Amino acid sequence: MGDASRPTKGTDQPQPNSGLTTRTTPGPRSRSSGGRMRPTLSVLRARRGPDAGPDTVADDLKTCLQPKLTASCMNPDCSKKCRWPVGRGRPPLFHDRLCHEKYHLIRRRLVAEIADIDEALERQPRPSSEERIYLENQLARRRWLLLRYPDLAIERSDRP
Ligand SMILES: [Zn+2]
Repeated sequence: MGDASRPTKGTDQPQPNSGLTTRTTPGPRSRSSGGRMRPTLSVLRARRGPDAGPDTVADDLKTCLQPKLTASCMNPDCSKKCRWPVGRGRPPLFHDRLCHEKYHLIRRRLVAEIADIDEALERQPRPSSEERIYLENQLARRRWLLLRYPDLAIERSDRP
């Protein structure tokens, strides 16, 4: 008992670099074509030299490193993924209906609270400095959260 010859688990074994996505030698189960990392679009464009016209962009897009087919659910509290649709259809921003509803509920609440705080800060006569500091802190907290809830109506529209 208590013999030092008992093998320790794992810690002294070389660990595979499984956390990296930029490895150049994909494993046997990699689904990338030809087992070789595709070059990025900027690399392909650079290879064509300074005289490459825009008529070659589509060709380079076909052979370059492809963008991911999945993206995070837009609900910042959710860890699920959304997948780019195979056929036609609107690309999903939320992994399910509940996340969609939560997002808009929380966003609306933050926007309304920010408006109330703005009003309290700008009232006449001015709030005391103690109250103003408190209000500004509460405002900053909500703005900090609201950065995670961008206005998706703008993203969806055709405006640049
Ligand atoms: Zn979600």
